[in-house]
Amino acid sequence: MSVKINIAIDGHSSCGKSTIAKAIAKKFEMCYIDTGAMYRAITLYCMNNNIIIDQQVNLQKLKLHLDKIEVSFHFNIETGKSETILNGKNVESEIRKHEVSSFVSIVSQIKEVRDKLVVLQREIGKEKGVVMDGRDIGTKVFPSAELKFFITAKAEIRAQRRFDEMKKTGVSFQQVLDNLLQRDEKDGGRAINPLRVAKEAIVIDNS
Ligand code: C5P
Repeated sequence: MSVKINIAIDGHSSCGKSTIAKAIAKKFEMCYIDTGAMYRAITLYCMNNNIIIDQQVNLQKLKLHLDKIEVSFHFNIETGKSETILNGKNVESEIRKHEVSSFVSIVSQIKEVRDKLVVLQREIGKEKGVVMDGRDIGTKVFPSAELKFFITAKAEIRAQRRFDEMKKTGVSFQQVLDNLLQRDEKDGGRAINPLRVAKEAIVIDNS
């Protein structure tokens, strides 16, 4: 009889976490969950509903909207990829835009946002067989995951990879690098569930 496990993969932005997570999920027939996409979807909702104004999140307004925000995933059989659904709409390409990247770390600092998504992530993983990537999976979402990885890579290399993916959008290398460094700082420095290496995690430098 095979035993189902959960695998937690945490690490810095654009270090190749999702590529590794997807490859593991495919090989072992597990379900891949991109938790960054969930934070990105809530950020997009905030941007579209005037909840972010002057680079600040209107917390009162966000709290009123939070119960109305539904994030889920849909597996696209044609592309073989999972796509992010926000309140019934496929937002997979919109959430990858540079503007969303520039606001996501201020939205993901908010306790109410994290509480909502951690509950959802635990629900998704309760039957096991899940590979989940993010920033707090091994430390907060599944502290008892059977296998944990922490992936990192040099900032310039991460920025170059991301820039190669985004070149067509007109964003510059410097903008991509600045965004990564800012997110590293915010994700590692926030008060709630900051990015940390989980105790039992296998650390991989993917430079
Ligand atoms: O993984 P990705 O770079 O798409 O994540 C986008 C942002 O979402 C991160 O920079 C971080 O602010 C937030 N995030 C988080 N906790 C997670 C996953 C992502 O705070 N578990």
